[in-house]
Amino acid sequence: MIQLTRRGFATGAMSLAAGTAAPVEPSLRLPPTDRPTVALTLDACPGNFDERLARLLVENEIKATIFVTALWMRWNPNGLAFLLAHRDLFALQNHGARHLPPILGTRPVYGLRPAGSWDAIETEIAVGADTIQTASGTKPAWYRGASALYSPEVLDPIRHMGIGIAGFSLNADQGASLPAATVAARIAKAQSGDVIIGHINQPLRPSGGGIAVGAAALKRQGMTFAWLPG
Ligand SMILES: [Zn+2]
Repeated sequence: MIQLTRRGFATGAMSLAAGTAAPVEPSLRLPPTDRPTVALTLDACPGNFDERLARLLVENEIKATIFVTALWMRWNPNGLAFLLAHRDLFALQNHGARHLPPILGTRPVYGLRPAGSWDAIETEIAVGADTIQTASGTKPAWYRGASALYSPEVLDPIRHMGIGIAGFSLNADQGASLPAATVAARIAKAQSGDVIIGHINQPLRPSGGGIAVGAAALKRQGMTFAWLPG
């Protein structure tokens, strides 16, 4: 079997880019466990820090995986310090350097300009990972692209970097756009194995409060909250 180099994959991705296939939204669930378990994953896209949500998670001792962008880390030093002060609950993973969707071509998604090329996607991932490692001392194992959409051609090259692609199975807040009661009801219906996606960068929107209420209700029902494995 021919051992492909990283550059070999990159070239392959670039040549496939001409087709600009429709973006895909990978799904992710946790492996089976003995007791009911979900993963709460919260994106820190560029924006602010939803300290209300973070404090409620701490009060309820609920673990969450926080997907941070390097931009968010730079803009929210106090938020980053809060997360790092609660490492028993919050694990930092990679949401990219500049929040550029890992999509080839030029067509915007959700109003975001895509990274456009494999080189730009690789930089987005690598710089995001380096920023997290510098801040926390821990190298992230997971990447979730901005928009959670990916050009299908770049999925294997990303995995070849040794990075897991953090899909999800339950969308709690639709980009922090839903009312709190709706978000709480969606989370309360989570099943064991679900990877829940929400946001922790929109303190002025009601959805963050709904995440806290829904997660606390799940925990009272006996659900265990785990980080993404690895
Ligand atoms: Zn995002």
